[in-house]
Amino acid sequence: MPAKSVEIQCPACGKDTLLRREPKYDGFKKVGERLLCASCKHEFAGENEVSFKTLARPSVFSDADKLKKADIFADDEKGRNCRRCRQYVVNPFVQRCGLDNRLVQATDLCERFEKKEEPPAENGQEEEKENRESH
Ligand SMILES: [Zn+2]
Repeated sequence: MPAKSVEIQCPACGKDTLLRREPKYDGFKKVGERLLCASCKHEFAGENEVSFKTLARPSVFSDADKLKKADIFADDEKGRNCRRCRQYVVNPFVQRCGLDNRLVQATDLCERFEKKEEPPAENGQEEEKENRESH
C-alpha cells in the first residue's frame, strides 16, 4: 500500500507541498524517520514542527455536524434563503446579515434563518422585480 501523501506548508521555502518520510538508519538498523519537505528538502526535527495542512481544512466538521445541517435544511431548503430572512439587510452596495454583520448573498442558506413577515405574494411580481435588479 503506498504511503498517503501528507500536505504541509513548509516554513523553509514557504510552499504548499508534501511531506516526505524517509527511513533513518544507524548502520543497517532502522532507527526512525526523517521528515523532509518534498520541495526544498528542509528537514523537520519532528512531527510537531511540521505545519500539516490537513488540520486547517474545513473537513474538521464531524459527520454528526453534517447530518445536523442536512436535517435543518431538509424540510424547506428554498425557504431559508437570506433574502427571505428578517435579518437580511440590503443597501445599494452590499447585503448583510443583521445578526452578525457578515456579508451574505440573497440565495445563501442560513441556520439562523428567521422568516420575514411579508404579505403573501400571489402573483409573483416580487420575483420579477428581483430578477430585473440583479441584471
Ligand atoms: Zn520547503
